[in-house]
Amino acid sequence: MRVPRIDLHAHSSASDGTATPTELVERAHRAGLDVVAITDHDTVSGWAEAIGAAQRLGIGLVPGIEVSTTWYGRSVHMLAYLPDPANEALAAELQRTRAGRESRAREIVTRISADYPLDWDAVEQLALGRTVGRPHIADALVEQGLATDRYDAFDRILHPRHGYTVPVPAPSPVDAVQLIRAAGGVPVLAHPGTVSPERVVPRERLEQFVDAGLFGLEAHHPENHPEAVPLLVQLAVDFGIDIVGGSDWHGSGKSNELADGLTAPDVLERLLDEATGSQPVNLG
Ligand code: AMP
Ligand code: FE
Ligand code: FE
Ligand code: ZN
Repeated sequence: MRVPRIDLHAHSSASDGTATPTELVERAHRAGLDVVAITDHDTVSGWAEAIGAAQRLGIGLVPGIEVSTTWYGRSVHMLAYLPDPANEALAAELQRTRAGRESRAREIVTRISADYPLDWDAVEQLALGRTVGRPHIADALVEQGLATDRYDAFDRILHPRHGYTVPVPAPSPVDAVQLIRAAGGVPVLAHPGTVSPERVVPRERLEQFVDAGLFGLEAHHPENHPEAVPLLVQLAVDFGIDIVGGSDWHGSGKSNELADGLTAPDVLERLLDEATGSQPVNLG
């Protein structure tokens, strides 16, 4: 029997992906995935379109969000599956973060413009109606001939080491986990092993997330360091939480391909059992 292929992390043009929600679902279908999640940064604005496409194609869809959080000055991403998008506390927090992202992006552009001929209008055009992020600033830099692609823009300009980037103002991961659970959603710590095997989420911090209601760790992610994966799996076992996988596909905005990270079917089943905020498509 074939094991269903389940990718629980992908972005559309509702945030910093390059494909529309419809294209995302079509690509997932063509890639032979049985289930895909749409997890744009801090927004549910791609959900309706993705749901329509999944219904037409008969592919499983898990609506989600990649929620921005800050932990001791560092950015931490928290995936939220199937929360109630109408939950007032969650909607208000996402709204605050999106507004904060805009002020932050303006600040980054102001700093960059001291050294490069870049203005806010160019970025605003590219980010219109989307959750704005550094990838849109990267795209503007490419458009102006100041970088060759997003990777080059991050390497030379947008990485925090260059001093132009400021953090996204966002809630703590503990607050986010509680907010997501209160909205009936299922929280998963995104790509916790990307920095280095020595820098996977520390045990005592993870304990706080688990106490708050964390469902699992995204151990299977193309950017997790290979040596971090067994450590993450062990942490999940020790804390009795689940192991999730996703590709973090951003269309042509990143080299990650759909299915580069997969979730086991029994994990998806438990996730669906715990989710009470909204309905998946073509599942159960
Ligand atoms: P932001 O949310 O504005 O801090 O931007 C983070 C986003 O930028 C991530 O979600 C990725 O989509 C993208 N990103 C981060 N690092 C890189 C990189 N080195 N090259 C290309 N894209 C990146
Ligand atoms: Fe992104
Ligand atoms: Fe992320
Ligand atoms: Zn992501």
